[in-house]
Parts: sequence; structure tokens; C-alpha cells
Amino acid sequence: MEDTQDKTVSFESEAGTSMRDSHGRTMEYLRISITDRCNLRCVYCMPQDSAGPPVSRDCLSFTEISEVVRVAARLGVRRVRITGGEPLVRKDLHVLVESLSGIPGIEDISLTTNGLLLAKHARRLAASGLKRVNVSLDSLKADRYRKITGGGDIRRVFRGISEAENAGLLPVKINMIPMRAVNDDEIEDFATLTMFAPHHVRFIELMPVGPLRHEAEKMFVPTVETKERISSLAHFTPVEVNKSGPALYYRFANAPGCLGFISPVSQHFCASCNRLRLTCDGKIKPCLFSGKEVDVRSALRSGAPDTEIERLLKLAVEIKPERHLMHSEACTDRPKSMAGIGG
Ligand code: SAM
Repeated sequence: MEDTQDKTVSFESEAGTSMRDSHGRTMEYLRISITDRCNLRCVYCMPQDSAGPPVSRDCLSFTEISEVVRVAARLGVRRVRITGGEPLVRKDLHVLVESLSGIPGIEDISLTTNGLLLAKHARRLAASGLKRVNVSLDSLKADRYRKITGGGDIRRVFRGISEAENAGLLPVKINMIPMRAVNDDEIEDFATLTMFAPHHVRFIELMPVGPLRHEAEKMFVPTVETKERISSLAHFTPVEVNKSGPALYYRFANAPGCLGFISPVSQHFCASCNRLRLTCDGKIKPCLFSGKEVDVRSALRSGAPDTEIERLLKLAVEIKPERHLMHSEACTDRPKSMAGIGG
């Protein structure tokens, strides 16, 4: 564990106060993985021929997750994102959303999904308090989509996006990972979508994690190149977007949608990182690229009081590294797959 004794870590547990780490960052965002199961087999995450992440059969219950969020909210967490695995494969997700939305202090609940099951659940989730969805979509071509995802039906994703819009889960954010010689010829098509639809289309750099971690370098398309290719379509200018997180946003003139760029590899955003992660098996991870984690499940299951959950959350903040070591050869803490941790 890092030595934090000579640094200032401040915690105030009154409502409305914050968790600040020793590097001056305030933790107000919690990404919650509710399962490591998935109904797709994406090449960069859990491909067909891999065993996938070890399936943790002992996921936190919705009650346990809500318990952690209730304590986290008292410590200043304001926004939560539900992810996985594929969160919509977990039964009755709306029950969790409803529970989280009733927690004092929680202002925003969003969901990251592959969209396959979204059409069926969008309205109920919205009625339960979900505010927005991010849909992962790496191709607009049915055949290619099927290939990248190990069998996904793109028509279901389109229906999911459309139902999410109808349900008021706005703006729908579409996350695309450009990969060289896989889908990078579609960058312009994805960008063009924003000229006609109010979506936020976000281009995310491929990170060297998961089954493609060794090939990631040659498949990697840096944001600077993605932007350059999009600029051949038309001029776009920066825009301010509320709760934009690590994304930088732009817009073509008069376009209803936005372009977002997330560059975890070429331009890390550790200095402004405000997030903690809760894995489906109850570990609090302060950083995606750190093996450090704090077990909260045992405490929950042994009937520990809130003060103990609070202590564990604070501990996770204390051990949050100043920055990730993704680029370092010495980095042995690289996640085996995003599905195991929660992308
Ligand atoms: N199943 C949901 C989905 O498809 O959105 C949520 C989980 S998925 C692991 C979350 C996100 O992580 C997806 O947008 C996916 O593209 C992204 N992801 C997975 N592996 C990645 C990698 N190596 N680099 C960048 N993003 C990755």
C-alpha cells in the first residue's frame, strides 16, 4: 500500500461534503459492474475462443450494491454508472435503478450497454430513475458488427437506441472504438451520424487490456488521427457538454449531435480522475490500471456497520494512484478484460 501519511487526504461524512484524495481529486463518480457475464463475445473483450473472464458466481446483490452506494453518497459520490459485463443480462435491473435513485445525494444514474436488450427495458428503466445510456457500437455494418461481437444482431442495437430515445434517455451516447484494419474505415460514417441525429458519438482509443493487449499497438488509432479524418468531412468546433467526464466534445456547424473524443492512451486524464469502481464481486478499485483493490463484500456479508463500509471506501481513495502506469513495461496490473472489472 502507498504511504499516504505525509499527504492530505480529507474526508467529511456530512451530506454535501466530499472525498478528496491526496492528489487533490474529489471522488464523486462510481462505476458499478453488476455482472461479468455478457451476451456478446467482442474481439477485444471476451472473444469466442476465450474462456472469458472468470465468472464470479458470487456477485453483490442489488441490496448490497445499494448499501455501498448509500454510504458512498454520504461521502460525496453524486453520479453512478451501471456497467458490466452486460448489465442488461442481469434480471430486474430496474429494481436496482429504483433503489439507487432513492438514495439521498445521488443525482445521476446512467448505464453502459451493448444495446441488444435495451429496446425491451428502456422505458421501465427510465421510469425507475435511469437518466441516460451509453451504447457500445463498433460498426454500422451488420456483417462486420456480427464479426466483431461474435454474433451480435445490429438491428437489435438500432431498436435499442431508438427505444432509449423514445423513453427520454437523452442524449444517447454511442461509443465506438476505432481499430486499424477492423473498423477505422467507418470513422467518417459514425461522425456523419451526428449531422442527422442528436446522438453523442464518442470515439474511444483502444486500451492495451484484455485479449488484444499485445496487438493493441498495431490496431491502435490515436485520437489525433480520428479527428483528422473527421475534419475531411467538415469543420467542427469545441462545445461544452455538461458532465462530459474525460470526453472532449465538438460539433459540426448546425449539427444536432456531438462528436466526443476519449483518449485514455494518448492523453491520460488521471489528473482529473474522479472515479472509483465497484466490481461485481464486491471489490472497490481505485484505478483501472492498478491491482490495488479493497474488498467490501466480506464486510457486507459479515454484517459490518456503515462505519466499516465508510472506512473501506476511504481506504480505496487513499490508495488511488496519482496516475496509471498503462504505458509502463513494468505494469503488471493490466486488467485481463474490461468485462471482469466493468468498462
Ligand atoms: N457490455 C456493456 C457494453 O458493451 O457497453 C458494458 C461493458 S463493456 C466492457 C464497456 C465498454 O468498455 C465498451 O464500450 C467497450 O467498448 C469498452 N472496452 C472494452 N475493452 C476495451 C479496450 N481494450 N479499450 C477501450 N475500451 C474498451
